[in-house]
Amino acid sequence: MYVILLGPPGVGKGTQGVLLADAMGWQRVVTGDLLRAALDAGTPLGHQAQPFMNAGELVPDPLIVEMVKEKLTALSTGTNILFDGFPRTEAQASAFSMMLQALGFAIDHVVVLEASDEVLIERVAGRRFCPSCGAVYSTVLDPSQTEGVCDNDGSRLVHRTDDTAATVQNRLEVYRRETEPLIAYYEYGRPTVHRVQGEQGVEEVQSEVRQVLGLGV
Ligand code: AMP
Repeated sequence: MYVILLGPPGVGKGTQGVLLADAMGWQRVVTGDLLRAALDAGTPLGHQAQPFMNAGELVPDPLIVEMVKEKLTALSTGTNILFDGFPRTEAQASAFSMMLQALGFAIDHVVVLEASDEVLIERVAGRRFCPSCGAVYSTVLDPSQTEGVCDNDGSRLVHRTDDTAATVQNRLEVYRRETEPLIAYYEYGRPTVHRVQGEQGVEEVQSEVRQVLGLGV
């Protein structure tokens, strides 16, 4: 099964994606994580992407499409894959459809997580992540056991540099302008689009996501 997790920054795509993929043994393709890894590794892609990421703007479509193509080629395409943070524009969505078609696959479900801007801004301000294992915590919803320390490996948690109030506001505007229209785009296509209220607690959202995907609770 191929599933796209769609939603604004801070709505919980990362948290829900990890829970689902871990429980089901699915692979995750997370473009934000791939870009941050490229940035940390100092690759040409990382250098090209950095100014856009810092400003809360989208990285140009051709770079993203190429990066996802490479990732998909490296994965065994027969497995279940959860896409988080991709596609984010109509150009990415149509390139993605063609990419999958060439491989003989298609998107089965699009899960849209929704929340108000007010809640999103509060959540992003409280978001922390572990630079070693990538675990994401929320000081609001899902705090680590010891404040500022990763439960998995004891690393000091950090605040993403693009999680500042000004950048988040811009990322939300970019989401509403560029990515939200993809919901209508997919509603006319083959995948089934499911809307899930993301303002609920982590477990409630997870159980609704599994329900809409027909995976049981
Ligand atoms: P995220 O972790 O999904 O919030 O992504 C962090 C940043 O990476 C975004 O603000 C964009 O600058 C960039 N990014 C991630 N995924 C994409 C994408 N599919 N298209 C363009 N830019 C992206």
